[in-house]
Amino acid sequence: MTPITGATITVGVIGDPVRHSLSPALHNAAFAALDVDAVSVAYPVATGDDAGLSAVEAMRTLGIRGLSVTMPHKESVAAAADRRTAAVDTLGSANCLVNDDGVVTAHSTDGDGLVRSLLIESSVDVSGREVAVIGAGGAARAVIDALARAGASITVVNRSADRATAAAALAGERGRVGVAADLSAADVIVNATPIGMGSDPRSPVEPTLLRTGQVVVDLIYHPARTALLDAAAAVGAQAVNGLPMLLHQAAMQLELWTGEPAPVDAMRAVVEASFT
Ligand code: NAP
Repeated sequence: MTPITGATITVGVIGDPVRHSLSPALHNAAFAALDVDAVSVAYPVATGDDAGLSAVEAMRTLGIRGLSVTMPHKESVAAAADRRTAAVDTLGSANCLVNDDGVVTAHSTDGDGLVRSLLIESSVDVSGREVAVIGAGGAARAVIDALARAGASITVVNRSADRATAAAALAGERGRVGVAADLSAADVIVNATPIGMGSDPRSPVEPTLLRTGQVVVDLIYHPARTALLDAAAAVGAQAVNGLPMLLHQAAMQLELWTGEPAPVDAMRAVVEASFT
């Protein structure tokens, strides 16, 4: 590993909380594999109205090359950046900042990370497929936007009707609001709710709506096996957890900061070591 010196490039992750984030381990493994003189650390940034602006100004002042951004700062950094990608403009949210000589650009790699992970890790091309997304929060919105750009048709199923309508609109003519019964017709089902995590270990989908041939994706990665994925496997559907998306959204951030193809195998090893 290259020793850290005064010339070492710095990147990091901001959030509140942030100490649990896997981003530094993923990105440091990638820097080592690429032999790039860079280091990633976690920066706790307290929740506050001006947190995003402060983080962007800190990047300029301290010469930080890139930041991965997690909750609750995804919206405030999008607003504070000098430039935004089209996806960030659409979503009003970003998970990655890139500092080019003081000009900070906001990117969103969550949705594209899912699309890329499905293709690379599961051989699933969503183009022309019917995808049902359960949920309409931040993760769902990023996924819906990316799925639509990748050529999927999207049905949004969510508890709150107004949020479902707003999320479906992100997909334009490819999006519509649906109900739970629509899930059985979908080629791909994506759970973008926290149902299945921690204190709520239920499945968000009635098992009779699942069938052989479907791809069932749970964005949850802790636990790695949820009730939804157990039910999907039981009917012969392809069950995919949130770890491949976590891996590929981080890989895309690495590529934005370095301009190099991400060493996905080295990064995958970090994920596997952390979740087995
Ligand atoms: P969020 O913004 O809070 O949105 C949560 C969504 O779930 C909302 O649409 C909400 O419905 C719905 N929901 C929550 N509790 C519900 C319940 N009891 N019954 C029915 N609907 C419920 O959360 P988020 O940031 O989008 O995260 C969603 C999930 O994605 C989390 O599990 C998170 O860990 C995961 N995630 C994974 C990755 C990855 O890399 N794998 C990345 C990001 C997020 P309402 O609209 O009605 O409130």
